[in-house]
Amino acid sequence: MKILTRTKFGNPILRQRTQPVFLKTANKSRFQKLIQQMFYTMKRAGGVGLASPQINKPLQMFVVEIKKSKIRPEVKPLKKTIVVNPKITSYSKKLANDWEGCLSLPAIRGLVPRYTDIIVEFYNQLGKKQIMKLSGFQARVFQHEIDHLNGILIK
Ligand code: ZN
Repeated sequence: MKILTRTKFGNPILRQRTQPVFLKTANKSRFQKLIQQMFYTMKRAGGVGLASPQINKPLQMFVVEIKKSKIRPEVKPLKKTIVVNPKITSYSKKLANDWEGCLSLPAIRGLVPRYTDIIVEFYNQLGKKQIMKLSGFQARVFQHEIDHLNGILIK
């Protein structure tokens, strides 16, 4: 499987807003291949999320997979999820600070406040609408990746 070239800090694509994905007209095999390559690239880079601007595609789409690990023994895992055209429809009142890394900002960590709970609506790779209620680390990862789709980095 091909590892996609990742865009790094300083690349203007990381500061741009992305375009919605039109799943009805998208080339299905090409889209599925892109998704598989994104998961593979994310895994090889040791990340839990990868947004399309990070692989030089300005689309409203990211992939996420959260596993328990030595660094994160307490997280609630999340199976491989493809998130297309997401929108956060509800935010908790509460924010929490925690350290975040980013595959586009090697060797940098930032203390970032995030909403502790969110409800997010999106489409899966088949165009089926999903509504997820997320909290804690899962909510943090989604907020980080959705920021990427709006051209926002932790630095
Ligand atoms: Zn990032």
